Amino acid sequence: MPRPISVLIHLEALQHNIARMREAAQGRTLWAVVKANAYGHGLENAVRGFAQADGLALIEVREAQRARAAGWTKRILMIEGFFDEGDIAELERLDVEPVVHSRWQIELLKKTSHTNLKVHLKVNSGMNRLGFLPDQAAAVIEEINAIEGVKVVDIVTHFANAEQDFDGKGPVTVAKQLERMKPLLADYDACMANSAATLLHPQVGGVGVRGGIVLYGVSPDASVTSEQLGLKPAMTLSADIIAVREIEPGEAVGYGSRWIARRPTRLAVVACGYADGYPRSMPDGSPTWVEGKIAPLAGAVSMDMLTIDVTDIPQARVGSRVELWGEHIPVNDLASRCGTIGYELLCAVASRVPVISD
Ligand SMILES: *Cc1c(COP(=O)(O)O)cnc(C)c1O
Repeated sequence: MPRPISVLIHLEALQHNIARMREAAQGRTLWAVVKANAYGHGLENAVRGFAQADGLALIEVREAQRARAAGWTKRILMIEGFFDEGDIAELERLDVEPVVHSRWQIELLKKTSHTNLKVHLKVNSGMNRLGFLPDQAAAVIEEINAIEGVKVVDIVTHFANAEQDFDGKGPVTVAKQLERMKPLLADYDACMANSAATLLHPQVGGVGVRGGIVLYGVSPDASVTSEQLGLKPAMTLSADIIAVREIEPGEAVGYGSRWIARRPTRLAVVACGYADGYPRSMPDGSPTWVEGKIAPLAGAVSMDMLTIDVTDIPQARVGSRVELWGEHIPVNDLASRCGTIGYELLCAVASRVPVISD
């Protein structure tokens, strides 16, 4: 028998969110970002749910193979390009379009042979991770286009603070990055916007957008809800109650005895722990959802279990399903309680948790 825990992916929500993003993209090419196993949602589910995207964007050759095997026939973009020489022939075979972000990749392209490789040139407009500086771009594009069988189809860049105001505070705003791209935009097609920039900053423009987090129904900004953005959360992480007990005031729960009962307490043990991807750093009082009510976390999360206070929810019993995050418990709310973002929780769901779809 499997453990009573699962991640349920709502295909209808994926379809709803891609339609929402399609509308926000306003005619631009829509890349669905499906790295990290589609942000934990399962690449095969993404292939089905994002059928109306123009392309998938991912990181690994292995994932590109998986997408093709799952029946994806449209475009595939490799966000960080190839990692070594051995990747290149396979990319061409799969008709996958790599990003080129560094000189060493150009040298490898010159050493290998190509028939029809489309590449995207990464421009560093302020993120300072990958890419060529804007004033190097024209020469680099000319150099790449001179390699037989290779063609640069567009330039790509990535925003560091797209969830903030267009012209807000801080050293690197969307406005500032866009300003640095400006000289290139007259001569080259550009794909710049991520989820937040697509929804919040239509003035970014370009010919394409790369949407990730919003396609999974999660707001890119924790201070704005999914509903406010017209999104539907696509993932529900849930597990069953496997034991219930009553403890006296003064009794403590779990490792470190962090939580101490102040009243006669009914505790439920849930079959989900940090080895499933529920953060160990989650504090007492964090919400779970059971039998239509909020039940607070009580005590440190263990490797395979966590404990919740169900004193006020008499209907909660062994076999009751507990939502850890999803429709009722926004993943961003939980993430902010333990100092991270929804993205991290979604893609950290452990491989031992079965991913099912409806
Ligand atoms: C992950 C990623 C995205 C998607 O970002 P979201 O905030 O999830 O929309 C877009 N572009 C690049 C280069 C990325 O690495």
